[in-house]
Amino acid sequence: MIKANDPNRKSWIDVSKDSDFPIQNIPFGIYKKEGAQGAVATRIGDTVIDLSVLSRLGYFDHLNLEDTSVFEKCRLNDFIGLGKKQTNAVRDALADIFDSANTKAASDSDLKGQAFYKADDVEMLMPVEVGDYTDFYSSKEHATNVGTMFRDPDNALLPNWKHIPVGYHGRSSSIVVSGTPIHRPKGQTLPKDANKPVFGPTKLLDFELEMAFVTGKQTRLGDSIRTAEAEEYIFGLVLFNDLSARDIQKWEYVPLGPFLAKSFGSPISPWVVTLEAFEPFRVEGPKQEPEVLPYLKFDGKKSYDIDLEVAIQPEKAEATTVCNSNFKYMYWNMSQQLTHQSVNGCNINVGDMYASGTISGPDKGSFGSMLELTWRGQNPVKMADGTERKFIHDHDTIIMRGHSKNANTRIGFGEVKTKILPAKED
Ligand code: CA
Repeated sequence: MIKANDPNRKSWIDVSKDSDFPIQNIPFGIYKKEGAQGAVATRIGDTVIDLSVLSRLGYFDHLNLEDTSVFEKCRLNDFIGLGKKQTNAVRDALADIFDSANTKAASDSDLKGQAFYKADDVEMLMPVEVGDYTDFYSSKEHATNVGTMFRDPDNALLPNWKHIPVGYHGRSSSIVVSGTPIHRPKGQTLPKDANKPVFGPTKLLDFELEMAFVTGKQTRLGDSIRTAEAEEYIFGLVLFNDLSARDIQKWEYVPLGPFLAKSFGSPISPWVVTLEAFEPFRVEGPKQEPEVLPYLKFDGKKSYDIDLEVAIQPEKAEATTVCNSNFKYMYWNMSQQLTHQSVNGCNINVGDMYASGTISGPDKGSFGSMLELTWRGQNPVKMADGTERKFIHDHDTIIMRGHSKNANTRIGFGEVKTKILPAKED
């Protein structure tokens, strides 16, 4: 068993029962206190812990890390780049430092005085500098729903879909951390029955409930990753909201796929939860029929049971949960996605981000976008404040949450929260 994952561990830091951040999680992120640069941190309960301070106080000395300046950086890339052997050793060491059995650390006033912050008192920054970003399209239910609405219910899935983990190269510059407000985007759309496009703010602003993994190991141009080794390249996961403008998308996507409809802001959750933390939550994925090509075959359980939800909060009103889904519904798993991404020899870098595609489940309440939940606006969602939503309104806040849970442990992400502002004036 991974040392940090021991379900019997308790921390000397207070952790509420429903916290996403028990001592078994130990995620990594970048926090910032007022007037200072960011630094690498972890979180236990509602306590954010500065790892650069821990390093200075000598808590990692026994690990003989290659480079301890990685904790002072305001992105995780250099830390992740140490490699899983060292980052997992840091995670295990943190579990020991904050284990209730460690009375020495618990009584270290320098540690508490210099490294501890209340989560509400600090700002979380982008955890990684995202070099390249890929968005897959790996939920069969989502692809089927979209194909049914836009093309042909009898041939909803295109012929390649069950053979290839379909994806496209997206825009990394507009991936932003939770809490970043996003203006309603403007662009070209073709109004119904019109024969030429108009320009203006999108009328069909949507979210896409996704997860994304961050790679932690490089390959050289020309090399490929096999499914059996793909997880060695996956450092951790975040929640990913692939905001989409459906009317802009519909007009622009032929023949090369999504472009400006999806590059105006893609918010992620601030804590990167390691793949290791999800080890107890491995499950079998959906059966893949027809059989996939040999390079996409895999052994063992490569899917993960992670409950996901989306809520919409209108301004000055309570939030309404509009979707409950699960990461385990994905037809193509992360190992297959990364294998496919690199099969042509395309190189992988530390800090690249790979989003899953919208995660829809089999039931109507599990669809991962407003497009599907309202079936293109035909069946508006009723909100707790009495209003209705076909798509997202100005001043709405979209909140995504995700966690895994068994009898002993709950491992989660916290949330990714995004307020939509009106389109910018010209
Ligand atoms: Ca997407």
